[in-house]
This record gives sequence, C-alpha cells and structure tokens, in this order.
Amino acid sequence: MDTAEQIEQLRDQIRDYNYHYYVLDDPLVPDAEYDRQFRHLLSLEQQYPEYLTPDSPTCRVGDKPLSHFESVRHQPPMLSLANAMDDEEARAFDKRIRQKLELITVEYNVEPKLDGLAVSILYEKGRLVRAATRGDGTVGEDVTQNIRTIDSIPLRLRGDELPAMLEVRGEVYMPKAGFDELNKKQQAAGKKPFANPRNAAAGSLRQLDPKITASRPLDMFSYAIGRVEGIKLPGTQSGRLAVLKNLGLRVCPEVDVVMGIDACLSYMELLGRKRAHLPYEIDGVVYKVNDIAQQEALGNLSRAPRWAIAHKFPPQEEMTILEAIDVQVGRTGALTPVARLKPVFVGGVTINNATLHNAAEIKRLDVRVGDTVIVHRAGDVIPKVTGVVLSRRPENAVPYEFPEVCPVCGSDVAVEEGGIITRCSGGLFCDAQRKQSIKHFVSKNAMDIDGMGDKRVEQLVDVGLIRDVSDIYRLQMEQLLKLERMAEKSATNILNAIEKSKQTTLPRFLYALGIPQVGEATALILASHFTDIDGIRSASIEELQSLDDVGPVVALDIATFFRQTHNLEVIERLIMAGVYWPTIEKRMQHEPELMGKVFVITGTLSEMSRSEAKARLQALGAKISSSVSSKTDYVVVGENPGSKAVKAIELGIERLDEEGLKQILRPSSA
Ligand code: NAD
Repeated sequence: MDTAEQIEQLRDQIRDYNYHYYVLDDPLVPDAEYDRQFRHLLSLEQQYPEYLTPDSPTCRVGDKPLSHFESVRHQPPMLSLANAMDDEEARAFDKRIRQKLELITVEYNVEPKLDGLAVSILYEKGRLVRAATRGDGTVGEDVTQNIRTIDSIPLRLRGDELPAMLEVRGEVYMPKAGFDELNKKQQAAGKKPFANPRNAAAGSLRQLDPKITASRPLDMFSYAIGRVEGIKLPGTQSGRLAVLKNLGLRVCPEVDVVMGIDACLSYMELLGRKRAHLPYEIDGVVYKVNDIAQQEALGNLSRAPRWAIAHKFPPQEEMTILEAIDVQVGRTGALTPVARLKPVFVGGVTINNATLHNAAEIKRLDVRVGDTVIVHRAGDVIPKVTGVVLSRRPENAVPYEFPEVCPVCGSDVAVEEGGIITRCSGGLFCDAQRKQSIKHFVSKNAMDIDGMGDKRVEQLVDVGLIRDVSDIYRLQMEQLLKLERMAEKSATNILNAIEKSKQTTLPRFLYALGIPQVGEATALILASHFTDIDGIRSASIEELQSLDDVGPVVALDIATFFRQTHNLEVIERLIMAGVYWPTIEKRMQHEPELMGKVFVITGTLSEMSRSEAKARLQALGAKISSSVSSKTDYVVVGENPGSKAVKAIELGIERLDEEGLKQILRPSSA
C-alpha cells in the first residue's frame, strides 16, 4: 500500500469512529485507540503535507449533526482542543506560546477537562432563547427544549445589568452517581448500557423527546463566552469565568490561575489525586492562556485554538486480547469468571486479569476467547471487561460455555435465583471453598490468627493437616516442622497466635464461621439480640427475620447453616478445643436513645477500626451515613479527621471523641 492509500484508509477508519462516537453516541473503540490512530494520521500528514486535504478528520471538529434536529450555525465556530499526552508535549506547547508571544513565562487559566459534550446557549436580555450542540463546530443541533430541562441551567440570568445578548459555552455532563444509576436502569430494562458518562450525556441531550432528557441526571459547567453585546467583558479568561458565575451560571470550582508550565503540571498532578473523588468524570486538564489579547495574537488553527491545550490523563480504558477465561471458586462456592488478558497498560498500571463478574455478564457481553476486549480500570477499582470490539473478532471465536460442574471439585453447580450467581454444590468437600473458608476464619476481623496467611492455609489444606476450621486448634509443633519453608520460630509464632485466638468475642466467632450473608454488622446484631450461640442455633426464621437488617434471604441462610449437622459438629469441636468468649449481658433489644440516630465517623480511632465502630453502632439500631448533613445526629471524630469534622461544627452537630463513642457503646456487646 502506498502512502496516499494508507492515509486515505486511516481517514476512512477515523470517519467511521467519528460517526459512531459523535452521531450515534456509541463508540466502536476506546478513546485511547482512537487517539493513537488520529495521531498516526496527523504525523503522516505532517510528514507528507502534499496529501493534506481540507476534508481530513484532522482539520475538522466532530461530525455532521443529526438531521432530525434543526440546525444552528455557530459564529465564531466551536473548536476542539489540541491534546498533550504527556508532560513533554505540554512543555512543548508552552515553549511554542512563549516563543510566539516573546515572553519568559505565561499566565494560564487551568481548568478540569470535563468529560461531556460542548454546548452553546444563547441568552437575549437575560432569557434563554436557544441552545445547540457543537456538532461539526460550524453547524450544531438545536436542543433548546432539552437544555431547558436541566435544572442547573438558568432560564433567566441573574443580576441587574444583563447583557443584551450573551452566548455561553460549556460542557453538559452526567455526574458519576447519575451515570451508574442510569446504567443500572438500562440493564434492568434489558437495554444496552452507555459506554461512559460522556456518551450517556450526549445520548441523553440529543433526544427528540425532551421528556427523556428531563429524566436523565444532567448538569453543566460554563467555560467560555462565544458572543456578547451590551456589556464589556474583562480581558482575561479567569475574569470572564467570574462574569459567568455572577450571572448565575455554574463554573467548575476547580478552576485556577497559575504562572508558567511547572505550575500547570503541579495543578494536573493535584487534580489527578482528586479525580476519583470528584462527583463528575474528567479526562485531563485544559491549560488556557489567560490573557485574551494574547489569545487573539496567537489565533486559531482549523480544528483547535493555538492558545489552549488539553493535557490528558493516561487512559482508563484500553483494548487488549482476551487469552482465556478462568473460573474461580469463592468461600461460599460462587463461581467467578476472570479474564486472562494480554498485558495492557491502563489506568496507570499494567494489568493481566480483569473481572467478568458472572455468567450473565459474559452472556450479555458475548465475550469470547480470542476477542479484542475493552478493559476499564479507574483508581483502585478492580479492572473489568466492559465490551468487545466486534470488528476484531477472530472468525473461529466460539461463544463461551460457562462450566456446568465446579472446576475445582467437579460437583454440580446450581444457578441461583435471578441467574446472577452460579454456585458449586460441593460445600466443604470442595477444596476451593474449604481453603477460602479457612482463610476467612483466620482473617483479621474474624479470629485474627497471625502467621496464617493465604499461602500457609493453602499449604496446610494441601498436605491434609486441616480439613475444617476446627483442625486449626489441633495442630502440633511436629506436624508444622515437617512442612516446607517452616522454621521453628515461625511454627512457635503460629501456635502462639492460635492459642491467643481462642479468647474471642461472640460477634467475631459468628462472623468467622462464614455463614452466608453474615458480615460483621449482622454478626453483631445476632450476638446482641441472642447473647449466646444456642439462642441463634435454635432461632426460628421468623425470629431471625424480626431483627433489623435481616431479610428473608439472610434469615433462611442463617437457619440453614445451623441445621447442617457438620456445621454444628465443627462449632462443638471449636468450643471443645477451648475457643471461648465473654458472656454478653442481656440488654434491651436496642438502647432506645440510639434507635434510628444517624452517625458519621471521620478520622482514625485508636481502639477499634472504623468498620468495627460502624458495626457496633448499627447493632444498637443506629444508622451510619458517609456524609454530614442536617439529618446527622452525631459526628464521631477520630485522629486526623477530614472535612466532615468542620462540617459538623458549621452545622452545629454534636461531636463525639473516641471516649464519647465508647460511652455510647457502653454495656458493650463485643
Ligand atoms: P476533546 O474532547 O479532545 O477536546 C475538546 C472538547 O473538550 C471541547 O469541545 C469541550 O467539549 C471539551 N472540554 C471539556 N472541558 C473543557 C474546558 N474546561 N474548556 C474547553 N473545552 C472543554 O475533543 P473532541 O473533538 O470533542 O473529541 C476528540 C476526542 O474524543 C478524542 O481525543 C477521543 O478521545 C474522543 N473520540 C473518541 C472516539 C472513539 O471512537 N472512541 C471517536 C471520536 C472522538
């Protein structure tokens, strides 16, 4: 293929990606792949300028608007932004600016790059009269009725001196929480979920029926002024943002003004750390020359201004090959499929595995071994496969068959109600479940046996020294010393830790047993209500269900657990081996003064973990919230508290230190 052909082919490919992304709001590939192809085309066009044509996607913004909307002409055009993929490219941008302006250092207005879609909103004498999407930059779609449904966009501007005409430009976006909720609803209704908040925002705004837009959680931040008549604007970008804010428009609170590129990069780093906590999605930061006269001196290219650049964060979505699907078996026998991937750099790290959640998810995605898959990794969240690039599916790829028997022990599997969880029926006969249940039993918040890490547990099960958790208390020094990589010192430490763990509490013991659906909070509720294990063992389903937070499914699971003879035998053996806990004082069902009270916990507590404090308060009927509001009754303030402590003062909410909390928890159940 000669260069001209190669360039044309790339353009066709990018046009196709553009059409799916901008017109259909349903991208074919992750942005990282699009950006690679786009840059490849840019570099070929720079190398061979003789092939550059004005219809190349590199000279255009977006794509043609949808014809079923009225069109709106933008004057001046709404441009895109040039991208910097790393610090070096951002520095090169700054160098170009300094050279052109003959300055030693430049003042920049720095802003988050919001991941939504650009719109233009026209106000005449302060009233919203028209709104349009960016479209191809010159012509956009008239979405006035839809924009009117977004509560935070004023229909009338605020203030006494309103401009005769003002065209505001900004980004319509979907907050993260709203996006998650919308996708849950889409899935529940059997509809395709949106690929990301950007596509969800665009798909929601570009609806022919404004009622649909009204039902979607959209918001907007304003970041520019297109045209103005009747007021004089300040000569800086930051000054203009202040004008927008005074007129009652939302401006992103994270914007700032800095001197020079080093400060821009520090801002980017800071925002990178904040990113996961922001309620909206951002995919980079934008550095804009702050002085408008300087912006005008620099001018625009056909696609983007010369005076601004979008410095992008490393992609959170990439594509790679799915090499295999392995199915893991958890403590309760749930079969979880894991995607084994060709290593790929995404969200700042190289990943080899990603979760596929369950059989239903595999079916929904129709993901097949050999497929090119889209992998998402944001913050510390477990990487997941979110889609398949169908155009790259190998011809011989076959639909994935979920195993019908447990891959570890060969027992039959059962699909539970709702079709989400597939469970091995092998119980403790299944080595995988046995190992997981023992790992859970020894874990920190359960019996807390130091020195019994995952590897050690696996080894002890593999050599047959432990079959169920009660065997832990029969381990002998000689047996341990025969194990590989076991010195006398570690063996002594393990035996001491086992001995120490015998003295425990009833809630811990209940939690350690690994009763399905019984986490720390439920264990506490059970312990404080029944006060001894016999009470729980003989409780009827109705009695269990009468407790707070214990629904019919959990009640059934608890009752079923205590009806299994082998479980009762294990409990018996544990008690015989010397496991014991202090008797719990019988107390009123719940201390009435805590019933329904809302607590927020901030900072570190010295004598208990936050999760323990939370569980203990819940066990007494209190509710725990993650944010402080007028509905909060108490804020528990530990060491190094966060802004919640300040908020408590502002709202005049009662604060408790650790001592105060302990008093409240008084005749303690744990
Ligand atoms: P862009 O998103 O890279 O940058 C320009 C846009 O940024 C503006 O139009 C505006 O909407 C937005 N923006 C957000 N915050 C801003 C702020 N503070 N100030 C100014 N503008 C701000 O450009 P684009 O032309 O909208 O899209 C190109 C990008 O879209 C590509 O880099 C790619 O990542 C993605 N894309 C992906 C596909 C795909 O198939 N996956 C296809 C086309 C485009």
